[in-house]
Amino acid sequence: MSPEERARARERMRLHHQEHPDYYHVEQRRARAERREERRASFMSPEERRAKAAVHQRQRRLADPQREREIDEGYRRRLKDDPERLARIRAQKAEYNRRYWSTHSHKALTPEQREARRRRYYQITKERDRDKKKAWREAHSVEAAEKARLWREANPERFKAARDRWRQENWQKVLESNGRRRAAMRTPEIERVDRMAIFKRDQGLCYLCGGPVKPDARRTDPESLSVDHVIPLSKGGSHSEANLRVTHIRCNLRKGVRLAPAVARG
Ligand SMILES: [Zn+2]
Repeated sequence: MSPEERARARERMRLHHQEHPDYYHVEQRRARAERREERRASFMSPEERRAKAAVHQRQRRLADPQREREIDEGYRRRLKDDPERLARIRAQKAEYNRRYWSTHSHKALTPEQREARRRRYYQITKERDRDKKKAWREAHSVEAAEKARLWREANPERFKAARDRWRQENWQKVLESNGRRRAAMRTPEIERVDRMAIFKRDQGLCYLCGGPVKPDARRTDPESLSVDHVIPLSKGGSHSEANLRVTHIRCNLRKGVRLAPAVARG
């Protein structure tokens, strides 16, 4: 039968079924549909089929261990005589291992290596998500503050360590903030002073001894930057750039709260 003939026959059959819906074909069609449904209902996924096969295999092994051993030994013997097949299996295994370790390398790490890896990843995501997290904190300031508080309470040691680290790295800000706080206690006139602006205005020279001041030196360096209230706050001076001069921290500490001689005279 040619394909054309087959198509014609099918079409004839279709028309015939239309004309005679009560014929047994209809019954047959219904039965076919039912069988199809049954097949669908009993369909197993590959995982299910494998699990079922494993159970079956295990039962067989338990039923006749001797036979199983013989089968295994025969398989190994035949494999030994078939180096090509052996090589193929080894290559497959190597490929499987390669693929496995390319995604599971963390399983071969020592706990220390794993910790180092976790830290590294943490740093990467920290950099990557910095802006996103900042935006979230700004949009949810109440929740963010609450979250931060809970974290501080849960990790007091880590919080203190992080705070001290920040203070060490931002010691100039700390000085400015301390200055503001001290000033706020004594005078209502508060101004956020810019130490570097004062430094530039005074050309980086100490107004007490006239020597150059090191702006980036740490506070432990006697020649590091300090700013001094020309008229001390305790004597009614203001905490403003106009009342502040660049000094060496050494000279400032030596002067204490006395009025600077030059200014006292002028
Ligand atoms: Zn000085």
